[in-house]
Parts: sequence; structure tokens; C-alpha cells
Amino acid sequence: MKTEIIKVDAQQPDEALLQHAGEIIKDGGLAAFPTETVYGLGGDALNPESSKKIYAAKGRPSDNPLIVHIADYEALYPIVKKIPPAAEKLAEKCWPGPLTMIFEKTELVPDETSGGLPTVAVRMPSHPVAAALIRLSGGYIAAPSANLSGRPSPTTAAHVIEDLSGRVEMIIDGGPVDIGLESTIVDFTEEVPVILRPGYINLRMLQEILGEVKLDPGLTAEGEQEGVRPKAPGMRYRHYAPKAPLTIVEGPDRAVIDRINELTEEAAAKGLKAGVIATAEHAGSYHAASVHTIGSRRDEDTIARNLFAILRDFDSEKMDILFSESLDTPRMGMAVMNRLLKAAGHQVMKVGDNDLNGGKL
Ligand code: AMP
Ligand code: MG
Repeated sequence: MKTEIIKVDAQQPDEALLQHAGEIIKDGGLAAFPTETVYGLGGDALNPESSKKIYAAKGRPSDNPLIVHIADYEALYPIVKKIPPAAEKLAEKCWPGPLTMIFEKTELVPDETSGGLPTVAVRMPSHPVAAALIRLSGGYIAAPSANLSGRPSPTTAAHVIEDLSGRVEMIIDGGPVDIGLESTIVDFTEEVPVILRPGYINLRMLQEILGEVKLDPGLTAEGEQEGVRPKAPGMRYRHYAPKAPLTIVEGPDRAVIDRINELTEEAAAKGLKAGVIATAEHAGSYHAASVHTIGSRRDEDTIARNLFAILRDFDSEKMDILFSESLDTPRMGMAVMNRLLKAAGHQVMKVGDNDLNGGKL
């Protein structure tokens, strides 16, 4: 398949160009487009054949449901059975924006879109290109992240082209995204709202708006613990993984820097190319072959925005082994660490000042 690539202005997209993309989606085809979180791979959410095509293009397991994107609050009514008052309140504060809510679905939403679940995930993105495209496509776009399954989510059109060129009808280039991590997912099908995936909208913000909010136990479990499975099916899969093994090194700054330098020197002695994800404050202290600065510890928005691109960069640089500082920052730390831990397959090395145990406490 030949993939058409079009460029649009992120703030004031050309309607005529987007209209063409809207026709593709209405006709059952696929178009990747920018949102404020990451790039999405869009198809008609109410057409089961479109959803099947999305799974095929991404190589995504078909039991991993898609998020339905809407542009107007009223579009929620026909696709969900009921809207709990708490969800309505949250929508008022956070939509359009990086928030996905889970509801019981109506018959209008095909099982292919919901991955066979009786529930549906819905988000109203704020990106002008996304909002315009949804309206021009019939109002409901199913869109998972526009990456091949298992790879880091795309934050630029170049990432999407790398993964999906030849597999989809169109890719809309609207420049780099703003947030760089996928939406926060909150489940409203239980008594108390439950966070299934952390994102820009964090626990504290949700508690301020909703009062009591729970965290899905699968999120806090160390690694893939027996019997504790995340409720969002997608959170169970290996994800975001760079090709080289990644280890997170955690502890006091000096100990982390020293240990990472030891490890990368050991790797170099074996002829391996080692890469490091470093915060701006420490980047100059590392001696590895490839050191990527993710951003200042004081600028968590930049850290979040750079993470997926850096993981992809290491793949193109053909690195053999990777290390990262822990990025547990105050506001977005839970969201960033959720992705970093998955990328590392939960490989964490703890180091301390009185480290007598090979770094493994
Ligand atoms: P992505 O679109 O790649 O960000 O993935 C969508 C995420 O939303 C995946 O982790 C899905 O498992 C999750 N999701 C979508 N629909 C539901 C649902 N009905 N219940 C729980 N999780 C869902
Ligand atoms: Mg994804």
C-alpha cells in the first residue's frame, strides 16, 4: 500500500487537506494523526472492519481494546450506557485533554473496537488537528498509539513513518506532540473511580476533582506479579521496549553516576556499545558511548516529552546495552516511571552509599 504523507499546521490545519483524511476514514481506511499526547492511528470506531485493520497494521493483539476519540461531549451519549456524575465532573475539568474514561458500552460500539469487552474507553483530544479530523470522519475515531505493537509510542511523524509506512493509507504530519506520554485512563465502571494508566493528569489532580480515587493494583505491583494483573489489557503486554536491554539504576546521585560509569566501562571492555539516559544535571558526568540528555530534573514536561524518542534513538544507534537514571519526578513521575519500568522489563538496580552488595540491595 502506498502511504500518502501530508503536512498540516498544528494550530490552524488546512480543512481541505483534513477533509481528504476524513474521507479515507469514512471509507474504512486508516490515517495516523497528531494528538496532544502521542500520534494516533485512526479508523472509524463504529466500523468493525476498520478496527480489524488497525490491529493488523500495528501487529496488535485483538484482545487489546482501542480508545474511541470524540470531538464533542454530546457524542458520548449514543456510545455509553450511563455517565456517572463523577465522570461528568471530570469531563468538565479535563476534556478536551489527555484523559480517557472507561464506561459501559452500547451496541453501537463493535466488539472489535472494544476488544470483546462490554466497556469502552473514550477520550476527547484537545489537539486542533485531532478535533477537526474527528468531526470530518463521522465523529468517532478509534485510535491506539500509531506505533508497531511493542515499540515506543510515536511523538513525531517521523516515528510513525518509521513504523507504519506502507501499512496505512495516510500519515498526517502536524509536528512534534506536546505531552509525549499517552493519556491517563480512569475506569468509571466501579463504585470508586480507578486509575488504570497514569498520565499527565496525575493522582493528586484526580483526587482534587473527584475525592476518592483508587490506583489499579496492577500498577503498583513489582513487575508482572502472579495474580496481580492490570485491568487495562494493554498494560499487560511488553511495551516500549528498546531492542537493547535497559536497566534503571536507582539511589543517591553520586552512587548512581559511579555505578553507571562502572557498568558502561565494563560493557565497553567487552566490545559492547552502551547508552545512558541522563538528566541534564548529570549528563556531563557519564563516559558511555552514547549519552542522551532527557531534560532537567526541574523540567518534568521535557522529560516526559523526550522519553519515547530517546528509546527509539538507541535502536537506530544499534546500542547493545542501556542504563537510565530513575526519573521519579514529583508531578509526572508515576507516568514516566510506568513507561520506563516497562521499557526496562522492570530491571532495577538499587545502589547506595554503603554499597557492599554489588548494587543489589
Ligand atoms: P493505546 O491506544 O495504545 O494508548 O492503548 C489503549 C489503552 O487503553 C490500552 O492499554 C488498552 O488496554 C486500554 N483500554 C482501552 N479500552 C479499555 C477498556 N474498555 N477497559 C480497560 N482498558 C481499556
Ligand atoms: Mg500504545
